[in-house]
Amino acid sequence: MARTLVVHYAEIGIKGRNRPIFERRLCAQLGMALRDVGIETSVRRQPGRLTALLPDGADAAVALDRLAKVPGVASVAVGVAVAADVAAMGEAAVAFLQAAPPGSFKLEVRRGDKTFPLDSIAIARAVGAICVERTGRRVDVHRPDVTVHVEVPSKTAYVIGPGRAGPGGLPAGSTGTLLAFLSGGIDSPVAAWKMIRRGARVVAVHFWNRTLQGQAVLDKIEDLCRVLALAQGDVPLVIVPFEPMQRAIVAHVPAPVRMVVYRRAMLRIARRVAEAYGALGYVTGDSLGQVASQTAENLRTIHAVADRPVLSPLIGDDKVEVVRLAKLVGTYEISVRPHEDCCSFMLADHPATRTRPDRIAAVEEGIPWDALVEEALAGARREVYRASESSGPRA
Ligand code: ATP
Ligand code: MG
Repeated sequence: MARTLVVHYAEIGIKGRNRPIFERRLCAQLGMALRDVGIETSVRRQPGRLTALLPDGADAAVALDRLAKVPGVASVAVGVAVAADVAAMGEAAVAFLQAAPPGSFKLEVRRGDKTFPLDSIAIARAVGAICVERTGRRVDVHRPDVTVHVEVPSKTAYVIGPGRAGPGGLPAGSTGTLLAFLSGGIDSPVAAWKMIRRGARVVAVHFWNRTLQGQAVLDKIEDLCRVLALAQGDVPLVIVPFEPMQRAIVAHVPAPVRMVVYRRAMLRIARRVAEAYGALGYVTGDSLGQVASQTAENLRTIHAVADRPVLSPLIGDDKVEVVRLAKLVGTYEISVRPHEDCCSFMLADHPATRTRPDRIAAVEEGIPWDALVEEALAGARREVYRASESSGPRA
């Protein structure tokens, strides 16, 4: 019996007439994820679920691990596909139990095919009787040692083991492109991941102060992109030289408001990057009140120059929640590697926490934005990163 991956999806189920589009998107994402781990197979749409044949020799645990990271997946499990009749389902369940740890068992049956002559309780009784007779195991519906799932969505039935939970959400690339500001800290990659989980396709951008930050921060950003690619498939990255702009700001702007002006400067450059990639909005790791630049007043001042919505999915999260997610997603260990923050460049000890857009605009008077934006874009580098869980360069 050939092993089959069975994927249950999350919110796609409620997408009405657009459902086939989301399903096809998820099929493509799952196929790409399996290819990452060297498994070539095609993922197919079945009523209410997606399935893929696991080729001989493929490591099921590796496949499950990889697919459990793909947004849109509610759960994924390995099982076998058989004809939807009691004898065949019984045979498969017996084979499953023979390979399982000892003890009592329970059958969990889901019947989607309403034309099937038995309802789910009757299927459980009939298949269960075969299992008891052939394996000598006892049924325990309350505290079973082993649970076997039997699904009958159509003329094909699936007998599967325990599911691994996925991240839920929607498949990446199903809700539009966003430009994600990645700083190298803990927050911004989590923010980007949360938007990928909501179906966005993110293009990452990093504003880089070469003198201050050196190569180390770029290694971090690249590794973060590789981890985000586990959710997205691949992640384009734009590295924008930021030093000339920062020098101009230092020359014009008093230290207490420089951070706010740096952040506004990033948005001025971002507009052009967003146009190039067709991005509909920006993603940042801001969390209300976390640092001086993230007070409500300063966020207003910063966002005043944005030409697209600034989405900050961590805005209402506590740091502990963000750290928990960062560990789950796999970005935490990379983010905590030491690096210089681009924006510690010539900062005040006591940054202003209550700026106003009109006053900051007045302070910025005389900064040659257009020329500086052109210079930054001319020096920008574009790369694309594929999925990898290790931090080293991918072979
Ligand atoms: P993080 O942990 O993501 O670094 P933070 O709490 O340190 O966030 P700030 O340094 O104020 O906060 O930055 C706020 C947000 O601005 C970041 O989450 C990120 O989205 C964006 N950002 C800051 N610096 C850069 C940079 N050099 N390149 C790209 N985006 C940046
Ligand atoms: Mg930071």
